[in-house]
Formats: sequence, structure tokens, C-alpha cells
Amino acid sequence: MIEKVEHIGIAVKDLASACKVYEKLLNTGCYKTEHVASERVDTAFFNTGVNKIELLAGTSEDSAITKFINKKGEGIHHIAFAVDDIYAEMDRLKQEGFTLLNETPKKGADNKLICFVHPIDANGVLIELCQEID
Ligand code: ZN
Repeated sequence: MIEKVEHIGIAVKDLASACKVYEKLLNTGCYKTEHVASERVDTAFFNTGVNKIELLAGTSEDSAITKFINKKGEGIHHIAFAVDDIYAEMDRLKQEGFTLLNETPKKGADNKLICFVHPIDANGVLIELCQEID
């Protein structure tokens, strides 16, 4: 079951300067920064009520975030939905014909299991499913 929009991911060139902008914008401090080695990204999280904002900066040229920014510039990169059972949701979406970018959930930032759905099947929006790891 899809529970809510968990966070919106925003691709940024420079995490430190983007953090300053979003701290001002949201009038709240970043509560967590995390390097995700497998994705080659640095992330920063902000609480915005029931949802979060995730800033992502690539840490190498072959990072998906760096490639995204080189192609499209900074901006909204993905929308993440919290799910109660990521395996069940992945099965359901596969049966509905969506292309999953990973066959098994992987460990993402912020203590989550995650899976991405190809934007080609979602009207150009990269979708992330995420489930809190207990
Ligand atoms: Zn995300």
C-alpha cells in the first residue's frame, strides 16, 4: 500500500550552498546529512511536516545525480512514496507493466529500503518507493 509522499528529491550542484538556501526557505535546519556510497551521492534532509525534502548532490561524474544535472540542470529529481511492504508494491507495479530500475530493494539514505520506477512509465517522473528499515 502507498502510504504518503515521503519526500521529494531535489538534485543540486553544491550541497552546502543548497542547504543554506533551503534552511532559509523552510525556516528549519537540515536534520541529517548522509553519504550514500552505492549511489555516489551526498544527501541532506529537511522535515516539512509529514513530508521531507531530500537534497542530493553527486560525488562523481558517473553519479546519476551528476548526469541528471548535466542533462537537465538542478531541480526536482524524484518523488518518493512511503510503502508498507516494498516487496508487495514492487510485485504489483511489475504486474502493472512498470519498469523497475532495481530488481530487489536496495539500501538508500535515511534508513530506508528503496526501489526506483523508470520515469518512462510514469509520465517523465522518476518514482521512488521507500520503506523504513525497522
Ligand atoms: Zn529519495
